[in-house]
Amino acid sequence: MKRTLVLMLTLIIAFSGITSGVFATDFPDVPNNHLNFDAISYLTEIGVIAGYEDFTFRPEREITRTEFCALMARTLGYDKETYVLEDIPFYDVPEEYWGRGYISFCFEKGLINGMEEGVFAPADKVTIAQAVKMTVCAVGKNEEALLTKGEKWYSGYMAVAGENGLLDKMSQKADENAARSNVAQIVYNMLVSEAFNGQGEEEPDENTGDTEREELSDEELSEIEKVFAKKDFSDVKVILVDAGHNYQGKDIGAENLDYGVREEEITWQIADKLRDNLEAMGYTVVMTREKMTDSIANSSVIDSLQARVDLAHTSFADLFISIHCNIGNGIGKGIESYCFQLGGYSARLAALVQEKVSESTGLYDRGVKTANFFVNKNTLMPSVLIETGFMDNEHDMEILASRDGQERIATAIARAVREYDTMEPIENAAIKEENYDEEA
Ligand SMILES: [Zn+2]
Repeated sequence: MKRTLVLMLTLIIAFSGITSGVFATDFPDVPNNHLNFDAISYLTEIGVIAGYEDFTFRPEREITRTEFCALMARTLGYDKETYVLEDIPFYDVPEEYWGRGYISFCFEKGLINGMEEGVFAPADKVTIAQAVKMTVCAVGKNEEALLTKGEKWYSGYMAVAGENGLLDKMSQKADENAARSNVAQIVYNMLVSEAFNGQGEEEPDENTGDTEREELSDEELSEIEKVFAKKDFSDVKVILVDAGHNYQGKDIGAENLDYGVREEEITWQIADKLRDNLEAMGYTVVMTREKMTDSIANSSVIDSLQARVDLAHTSFADLFISIHCNIGNGIGKGIESYCFQLGGYSARLAALVQEKVSESTGLYDRGVKTANFFVNKNTLMPSVLIETGFMDNEHDMEILASRDGQERIATAIARAVREYDTMEPIENAAIKEENYDEEA
């Protein structure tokens, strides 16, 4: 869904001569030598911001937090007809409030979390810092900003925004109420930024397929732990989808020579279909292997596993789903789902995944099991590892190696996530007690 939007916007940019500033805007108060002329013209052109009835734009006028949400929502593809309202946690945004849909949309996208517990202050003026924070989140740099230290709450956001070109041609300071001219500029900056268009990703080394794994410092880890300690794990927005094993290097999976397939191929094919399903449901998906031929930290098995866990943490994923295939002397069959311990969110998810995948594939149901698997034990979020079938069992392989079978597994896991996401929080749920005990 997001890719389509980005493509559409890229096409609009490509065909509208945006860099040459050829728009004929009729705003008498925005002459074509205005610092923000291009941005205002462009956003007007694509219909996300408009002038007033007297044909002025009023570039100096300040806007409210709700009005900024509306602008961001429209820019990011909000559709009033089809949008389903979220249960938003702000008591000062009543159900009948005109901007509720926009606020809900921005909340769902992880762009806002309110002023303090339960307060959104919808009619307050939006400040530059608040607008900057939302755009930083929209380009996927929230974690980077949180890890960037500074004096003020927004120091990290301002720094990361600057590095990513989001502050270009902005004339106001962080604490000031944002004027429409600057608001238009930052949304425009977001739309044309590499980060927003997904070009800033680290490319694996061509020869080894290796990506450098930089260890998280203790300080970074403790910042991350603080964020996770506050998370409501019954609410899902970001999902780490882990295609088990690497395409090359030390962490290679099982192999079935008769079929000529390797575990890391099947796990990726299922993961890729799972990504499509989850994205279609509106979730944000982070992949440990973007492409089938990708490898993540392939110099050792532990490195590979640690890199997957680190990625989940720095992405602040709400769920971790690891896809694997079994192998067992030719006598094993069926599906099993693993979690670190029973009674918590991981076990809840494992039970749903196990039920739905065995139902939709018809493969033997081996049940939910607990184990000390690295990716289950060391993640701060609910985490499940699913063994989707046995690679040395002919019946299982009919499902595992076929497009239709993989699709059935993927849609079943996605449905499990959806159902998990609708359930109530678990009271006093222990998420990896061991991890949290260390902090306490
Ligand atoms: Zn495996």
